[in-house]
Amino acid sequence: MQDDALARAWLRGFARAVEEGEEKLTALDSAIGDGDHGINMRRGTGQVRRMLLRDQATAESSGELLGEAGLLLRDHVGGAAGVLYGSAFQAIGAALGDRTGAAQLGDALQAGLDAVVRLGAAAAGDKTMVDAYGPAVTSFRAVCSQGGNLGEATTAAAAAAAAGARTTIPMQARKGRASYLGYRSIGHLDPGAASTAMLFRTLAEEVKA
Ligand code: ADP
Ligand code: MG
Ligand code: MG
Repeated sequence: MQDDALARAWLRGFARAVEEGEEKLTALDSAIGDGDHGINMRRGTGQVRRMLLRDQATAESSGELLGEAGLLLRDHVGGAAGVLYGSAFQAIGAALGDRTGAAQLGDALQAGLDAVVRLGAAAAGDKTMVDAYGPAVTSFRAVCSQGGNLGEATTAAAAAAAAGARTTIPMQARKGRASYLGYRSIGHLDPGAASTAMLFRTLAEEVKA
């Protein structure tokens, strides 16, 4: 990341997207879960927004700022997604530190995915946020390794996350609450994959802005 301005804009953009998408996320989670993903995420991103507004948001680097956001998400989102998003952001922040540049951000996003997989043990195809996050990171890093810039990498990641989220519709859930439904989870978009698509969409939007 160039400086912490992008990290701030990303967190603010994600908070806005979650607010705007709260009802949609809740509706998705009502179909195959307990109907709280929208409210859970909003509670957490609301705290992140407050942190950004306060003068105390004096992070030394993008990494530190994203790590602080991770702590708030972990503590305030609650549920499965709270631990997973919180740990992802903490790992992204720790890996990024004060490094800048697209490739470094790609590595940090990979560290976030690794944290999610370490904690939740979901594989591709289990109908979770990993099905959006995984393709997003793969695309991001592929663009970087071909010499692409931050705009190109984040645009590709956003498209891959959105496409990845859509692939969860025909899947049967094997992790999380939706797995209790067995085959009845088939035919529904996974709420965590949908919020992860929002996360990567807002990153691309803020890079372009
Ligand atoms: P809860 O299920 O505790 O109510 P949320 O509704 O906030 O939590 O979040 C549900 C989302 O969390 C799911 O849609 C899925 O994407 C994600 N999730 C649940 N369990 C796992 C897991 N083990 N690995 C990865 N993601 C998971
Ligand atoms: Mg839920
Ligand atoms: Mg719940």
